[in-house]
Amino acid sequence: MFSFEVFPPRKDMPVDVIYDTLDQLSDLKPDFISVTCGAGGSSANAGARMIEVADAIKNKYNRQAVAHIPCINLTHADVDEMLSELDRRDIHDILALRGDRVPGVEPKNDFPHAVDLINHIRQKSARKFKIYAACYPEVHTEAPDFDTDLNHLKQKVDAGVDGLISQLFFDNNAFYYFRDRAQRIGIKIPIEAGIMPVTKKRQIERMVNICGACLPIKFRRILDKYGDNDDALMEAGIVYALNQIVDLLANGVDGVHLYVMNNVRVARRISETVQKLI
Ligand code: FAD
Repeated sequence: MFSFEVFPPRKDMPVDVIYDTLDQLSDLKPDFISVTCGAGGSSANAGARMIEVADAIKNKYNRQAVAHIPCINLTHADVDEMLSELDRRDIHDILALRGDRVPGVEPKNDFPHAVDLINHIRQKSARKFKIYAACYPEVHTEAPDFDTDLNHLKQKVDAGVDGLISQLFFDNNAFYYFRDRAQRIGIKIPIEAGIMPVTKKRQIERMVNICGACLPIKFRRILDKYGDNDDALMEAGIVYALNQIVDLLANGVDGVHLYVMNNVRVARRISETVQKLI
């Protein structure tokens, strides 16, 4: 599996500003393109925008679309509405997520965890939807420890998940350790490795802050040396990501999910090499 993740245009922009990006990403023939939904906060409106972008991927550019559904701020009725809208547009692949708490927004109580959403979708529509879920090689930031987080992941998988997509990481050894432990407790479904090619120093500092990924020393040195030179950092970021991917493929990874951040140039450079390796 080789897939991309994109985010919808800001809500004050028309949705078609992303079409050119989707057109070019589709030409690279990923197995699917997933669309984030209100990352950093979720609402029914963010859902509508995400569905429009997923619809364009599926029905305008003829690629498989995966719709992210963060559930923490949604009610059962909101989710049912989204599912029927996705079904109507022939989109049957979902990344079922809890989403992050938004300061000042009281979460709805219908779906406290992603597992509740997965159970709901399976109860409502049996196997109509293919469901992916998120996993965290370096442990979710709120989890007390590795084993507790892994057991929660097992609950999601047992509720009927078809595939996992990992949080971004920069140290492949963290991923291998996690994959090994997951397999040992009976998680047999494919796990796609989340890779984010770094293109901007500020962007990576923000992401690392949010998701808690460790920065290996060789990666820090790259940021220190090239952080103030956008072109050089982009090149170094692509090479670093490619090195990670080559190593992952050599170690039998089930798939690579590229957080391309709507950057076609980066996606193209990485795809060209990956296509020769798979
Ligand atoms: P959960 O699986 O519910 O886990 C969250 C925490 O609760 C973990 O610490 C877990 O150990 C714990 N937990 C789980 N189940 C239980 C239980 N039954 N009892 C007690 N504790 C439990 N966010 C967005 O808002 N929009 C997006 O589009 C988006 N896309 C993402 C894509 C990927 C590939 C990834 C990896 C993350 C994405 N996120 C997105 C971020 C995600 O919403 C956050 O990481 C969120 O904090 C956790 O979501 P989750 O689905 O993993 O939650």
